[in-house]
Amino acid sequence: AKATIGQTVAFYEARMDEQVRERRALTKELWQALASEGFRLHYQVQKAVATGEVTGYEVLLRWTHPERGAISPAEFIPLAESCGAIVPLGEWVLRTACREAASWTVPHRIAVNLSPLQLGHGDLVEMVRSILAETGLVPERLELEITESSIVADKERALEMLRALKALGVTVAIDDFGTGYSSLETLRSFPFDKIKLDRSFMTEVETSPQAKAIIRAILALGRSLEIPVLAEGVETCQQLDLLQREGCDEAQGYLLGRPAAVVEAVATTMAAPSL
Ligand code: C2E
Ligand code: CA
Ligand code: CA
Ligand code: CA
Repeated sequence: AKATIGQTVAFYEARMDEQVRERRALTKELWQALASEGFRLHYQVQKAVATGEVTGYEVLLRWTHPERGAISPAEFIPLAESCGAIVPLGEWVLRTACREAASWTVPHRIAVNLSPLQLGHGDLVEMVRSILAETGLVPERLELEITESSIVADKERALEMLRALKALGVTVAIDDFGTGYSSLETLRSFPFDKIKLDRSFMTEVETSPQAKAIIRAILALGRSLEIPVLAEGVETCQQLDLLQREGCDEAQGYLLGRPAAVVEAVATTMAAPSL
């Protein structure tokens, strides 16, 4: 039997209520996890395409919910951003990553993601400076990954902040390049140390000549601006071959290494598999 419009509306309203309740519960649990060390960090290796040498590790936040198991950052980061928890959570990530990396046997660089909200909140530069001092991590070992959405709101302020961060000795990468707000203007006016080519281009490279053309164009752009390019989401040998042929500087992806806990990450480094 066909549902009446009334029944359909009631069904959707019930579902909406359920979603709102679930979001509220998850938000509360997120704050609790933050207070009780419920988060962990994973590290994913980044390698030089030409030599296979390890160039660094990206820091990726992990949350294992007591009942729901592992929740993807793609789900909880937006939630943390909407409830304001991203500011203390992001600070926790930076402090913990710097502390862990400072204790590694091999002094690799770490790349930490920053939410646009962290850039707009308080004194980020002072926070970075004091965490480096507190953990003893040399600034050259820290890279910060920001997306273009971080700088569109207030370009003047963003530029000032980027310069101040770089003055500390840390490097700054532009993340997810080629998607969203990406513009050449941004590359021209902001002193980025690295371009991270968005994973979507890798996903499509074998099926889409357009994706391949865009990769080539971004690599050429990087070369002419003298900014190294790292390709994200490399999963196959064919993709890596292409990057090698096209002269891409660095790569990251499941083919080279999955995100893993710190001990494994450093252990992987010591027994570095050839590319
Ligand atoms: P992202 O910064 O673009 O990070 C790369 C994502 O791609 C990670 O997902 C990583 O696990 C995944 N990945 C790496 N290699 C491959 C591959 O070969 N194939 C596929 N399919 N995926 C690959 P993850 O860990 O789920 O993180 C998702 C997003 O959540 C990140 O995207 C980042 O935007 C955000 N995020 C993660 N940790 C943090 C954090 O500490 N702070 C902030 N602000 N955001 C974070
Ligand atoms: Ca990233
Ligand atoms: Ca990315
Ligand atoms: Ca992303």
